[in-house]
Amino acid sequence: MSFFYEFDTLSLHAGQTIDPVFGARAAPIYQTTSYVFPDTDTASSIFNLERGGHAYTRITTPTVGVLEQRIAALEGGSAAVCTSSGMATFCAITAILSQGDHIVASSQMYGGNISLMKNTLPRFGITATFVDPTDIDGFRAAMQDNTKLIYGELIGNPGLDILDLEAIAAIGKEHQVPFMVDATFNTPYLCRCFDYGVNMTVHSITKWMGGHGVAIGGVVVDGGNFDWGATDKYPTITEPYAPFSGMNIWEEFGPAAFATRIRAEAMRDIGPSLAPMNAFLLLQGLETLSMRMDKHMANTLELIDFLKDHDQVTFVNHPSLPDHSSHELAKKYLPKGAGSIVAFGVKGGREAGKAFIENSQLASHLANVGDAKTLIIHPATTTHSRIDAEALVAAGITEDMIRLSVGLEDVKDIKADFENGFRSIRKFAK
Ligand code: PLP
Repeated sequence: MSFFYEFDTLSLHAGQTIDPVFGARAAPIYQTTSYVFPDTDTASSIFNLERGGHAYTRITTPTVGVLEQRIAALEGGSAAVCTSSGMATFCAITAILSQGDHIVASSQMYGGNISLMKNTLPRFGITATFVDPTDIDGFRAAMQDNTKLIYGELIGNPGLDILDLEAIAAIGKEHQVPFMVDATFNTPYLCRCFDYGVNMTVHSITKWMGGHGVAIGGVVVDGGNFDWGATDKYPTITEPYAPFSGMNIWEEFGPAAFATRIRAEAMRDIGPSLAPMNAFLLLQGLETLSMRMDKHMANTLELIDFLKDHDQVTFVNHPSLPDHSSHELAKKYLPKGAGSIVAFGVKGGREAGKAFIENSQLASHLANVGDAKTLIIHPATTTHSRIDAEALVAAGITEDMIRLSVGLEDVKDIKADFENGFRSIRKFAK
C-alpha cells in the first residue's frame, strides 16, 4: 500500500491488506482476546517487541492496527496508537513527562483537557501554565527550565481561536521541547499539523473522524519529527527501559519512538485499549471523511450567514468571519474550512439559551460534537461546568453562548428548526 496515494484513496485503503484466508474486503473484526503463538521463540520475541505480531488485545489487534495505520497515513505521521477515548491525553503526556515536569498549554481547550492539566496531572507532580492561545509572547514567557511539552488545540474549544502552529513550533524548537496538538476539531482533512512543525497529535476519533456518533475512541499520532536524542530531557525515550530488558526505545524505534513508548507502557500498564468492534465502526466513518467534511463546511457557512443576520442573535463566533481575531490564521492553516463548530449568543441570556435549546427539535441537545447530525449545547452548564469562573472566561465562554456542531442535514431544515427556537425566546429579549 503506497503512502503516496491522495487523501481520499488513503481514507479507503491505507493500513489494510486483504485477508489472506477468506478475502474479506472490509477490515475483519478480530473479536478475540489473544492470539495463538506458533512456538515459544516467536512468543518471546513478540513480547519483547523484537518482532511485530499480536499477543493480547490490550496491546495490539489487527482491526485496530488498520485504523492506526490509516490515521497515521492521513496525518502524515510515522505511527499511531489508538485508545479507548480521546482523553488518552494522559497516556500521551506521561509517555514523556514525569514528576517535576511542566507543560505550557493553551487556555482554550476541551474542559476535560483543562481539568486533566489543572487538577489531575498536578497530583502526579506535573504542572501546567495556561496561556491565551493567541498570545505568542505569552507562550515564550511561560517556558520554564522544567517545561517538557507545549500543548494546545488547533481550533480552541469553544472560543474557536486558532493556534499559530508555526510560531509555537518555533518556540518549541528553540527550547528543544515537543509541541503536541489536539487536532480533533480539524481532522487531518482540514489541516495536517505535522506540515507546520507540530511533533505529535491527539484526536478524539469519536467526533468527525468516526463521524456517526456510534463509538468512543482516540488516537495519538507520532509525527516522527522530534529529535529525542538531541537533548537529555526525555529519559523515558532515550534511557534504557527496564521492563523491556533495558531496551533503548530511541535507538530501536527512531521516528516511531514516542508511539512505541505509549504502546509499551500505557497500553501495557494502564490499559486504555480500543475495542476491535469500535475500531471497525470508526473505520467505516473514516472512509468518507473528506466528503463529510466538505458538506459540514458548506452547511456551516450557510448557517453562519443565517445566524449573523438574525435579530435574536447577539453574536456569532467562527474563524471564517472576517471580524474573528483568528481569521487570518484560519485562512493560512485551514483553507478548506475552519471546522463545523459555531458559537453564538442569544438575546435574553441564560434563560433564553435554555429555551432555545429546548425548542429546537431537529438539533439534538447532547454533549458531543462532530456527529453527522446537528448538535447543540450550553457549554457553561455542561462541557465546561467543572472549570472555575476564571478559566471559563479564559476559555472564551459566556453565559448566553450556545455551541453548535453543524451536521449534514439539508441546511433548510436546520434553519427552520432554529426559527422555532428563536420564536420561543422572543419573550426574553429586553
Ligand atoms: N479532545 C477534544 C477537543 C474533545 O472535544 C473531546 C471530547 O469532547 C475529547 C478530546 C475527549 O474525547 P472523547 O470524548 O473521545 O473521550
